[in-house]
Amino acid sequence: MEIIERPQRAMVVFAHPDDEIGCAGTIAAWVKQGTEVCLVLCTNGNKGTEDLDMPPDQLAQVRAREQQDAAATLGVKDLVMLGYPDGGLEDTPEFRGKLVQEIRRFRPQVVLTHAPMTTLRHSHRDHRTTGAVALDAVFPYARDPWHYAELTKAGLQPHKVGTVLLWGSDNPDVFSDITETMDQKVQAMMCHRSQFARPNRDPNRQPGDFMREGARRQGERAGLQYAEAFHKLEFRT
Ligand SMILES: [Zn+2]
Repeated sequence: MEIIERPQRAMVVFAHPDDEIGCAGTIAAWVKQGTEVCLVLCTNGNKGTEDLDMPPDQLAQVRAREQQDAAATLGVKDLVMLGYPDGGLEDTPEFRGKLVQEIRRFRPQVVLTHAPMTTLRHSHRDHRTTGAVALDAVFPYARDPWHYAELTKAGLQPHKVGTVLLWGSDNPDVFSDITETMDQKVQAMMCHRSQFARPNRDPNRQPGDFMREGARRQGERAGLQYAEAFHKLEFRT
C-alpha cells in the first residue's frame, strides 16, 4: 500500500465547515513537519441544523468561528471562506474562477478535496460539486494562461498542481499515517460544536469513537495504527 509523500504546500478545498475533517489527520501531520497549508471553505454551512430557532445568518456566523478554531487546532493560518450558501453550490464559471484564483495565489503541489463521484453511497450535492469543480480548476483552468486571462493579467500566473487526493472515494489507493495526529483530528472535529447539538445521540459513545474506529479500519489496510485513505490522481507538471 502506498503511503503519501509530504508536500511543501497543500490546499484543502471543502464544501462545509467540518468537511476538512476528512483529511485533518494528514494536514495536522504535514503542518507539524513544515508543510504550508491553505484551507478553502466553499459554503458557509448556514443550513446545517435541525434547530428552527437558529436562523441561517446566525448559524453561518457561529460556524465561521468554529471553522477558525478548527483551523487553529490543525495549525493552519491560511483559511479562505468563499461564503456560498449551504446546498447552493453550482458548477459555474464564477465558482471555478474563485478556486482558480486561490490555486494560482497559493500555488500548492497537492490539492485535497471530496471525491466527486461515489457509486456505493449517496453523497451531498455540495460535496460532489466541490470535488468536480476543484478538479476542473486544477486542470486545465489554473494551469493555462488563457483561461481566466483576467487573473493572469492581474499577476496570478498559471500554476500546475501535481497531485489531487480525494477523500470519501469508493476506491482509495493511498494512505497517510495519522497515528501521531489522531487526537488532533478529533479535537478539530469537536471545534464544530454546532454539529454536536443534535438530540438522540447515544450518550455512551463519544463522536470521537466513530472517528477513531474509521481511522483504525483504514490503518489496518495499510499496516498503520490510524490512517486516512485517499484516491490519488496525478497530473503532469
Ligand atoms: Zn459536508
